[in-house]
Formats: sequence, structure tokens, C-alpha cells
Amino acid sequence: MAKEQLTPAETKTMMLKVADAIIEAEPILTDADRALGDGDHGVGMERGMNAVKEKLEASEYESVGKVFMDFGMAMMSSMGGASGAVFGTLFRAGGRSIKDSSTFGPQELANLITSGTESVMDRGGAKPGDKTMVDALDPAGTAANSATGQSLVDAMTATAAAGVAGRDASEAMIATMGRAKTLGEKSIGHPDAGAVSVAIMLNTMKDFITS
Ligand SMILES: [Mg+2]
Repeated sequence: MAKEQLTPAETKTMMLKVADAIIEAEPILTDADRALGDGDHGVGMERGMNAVKEKLEASEYESVGKVFMDFGMAMMSSMGGASGAVFGTLFRAGGRSIKDSSTFGPQELANLITSGTESVMDRGGAKPGDKTMVDALDPAGTAANSATGQSLVDAMTATAAAGVAGRDASEAMIATMGRAKTLGEKSIGHPDAGAVSVAIMLNTMKDFITS
């Protein structure tokens, strides 16, 4: 049954499904990073998601924001490298912006993504168009902000679709930041691996909320 406001326990279940989806996608993420970078993204994300599962499964939550903060902390402390830092920042800062919320609805979704994305841009220096994960996150945040008056199902559906479109749009971009910045025009034709991860995460959240 489609969900309109998630409890902290449902939010935890959703994010455990996100972790499983990323683990399952390890070969896809490895290939995506190999096309433009060093190929370590899949294995790094898999390590991060195993740490996330261990942390979330051992915890009970009253705040939905704390689920995402723990998600980010587990990534940050287990992954190392740029992906650990930026994905950790995304979830930690995004979660902190909704740490006082006991339900996850359209407003929390918008706050999570926009606060998280701002912190990623502050910390990593990437802006939209640089061919990084920001190119999936920024349109997703815009869609979420436009949908705060809608149902959670509709807001999450629009947000995931915008993230996927952003991932696809990153294929045509010339990398000026991140894993592929030294490739210049040779980076055209492949999506950014971080944007691929973001799209999988958003689609998994959408599948949980709409089912
Ligand atoms: Mg890499």
C-alpha cells in the first residue's frame, strides 16, 4: 500500500532497502566508474552499505533525520576516499536538517535533498554541470521543493524521475570536477558514477514509498 508519511521505523526499512539495492548494483557502479575513473566506486559503495546495514539494524529511531545521519556517518567512517566524504556529507547534513521530525513526508524529502546537496556543493566544490553526483541531486532537489504540497507518493515519484533525468543528462557533460575532470571531452558519453548511485537510491526510495 502506498505510504503518505513514514514513521522512523519505516524510514529505517526504506534506507536498508537502499543499502541492499546499492550492494546489488555493485557491478553496474564499478563499470560506471571504470569508464571515467579508477573503478573503485562500486566496491567502496558496497563497503559503505554494509556498514550502514550494521548500524541501522542495531538501532531504533524516534527521529527520521537520525536514520539519515547514521546512514551518512556509517558511509563516512567505512568508505574513505572522495565518495565516502561526499555521500557521507549528503546524508549527514540532509538528515540533520530534519532531525526534529518524527515523520517523513514531502517537506522532509525536500529538506533532506536540498540541505544535503548544498553541503555536498560546499564541501566538494562541484556545481551543476560539472558532471558529478550533483547533476542528479540538484534537479531532484528542485523537483522535491516544487512538490511539497503534493502527496509523498507523487513528490517522491517526481523527485526520483528528476534524479534519473539528471543522471542521463550527465552523459553529455564534459567533466570539470570529480573523477573524470582530467578526461575533458573524452568524458562525454558516460554518466557520472556518483550520479548513477544517486539515481538508484532515489528509485529505491520511490519503490518503497509507492508499493
Ligand atoms: Mg573512483
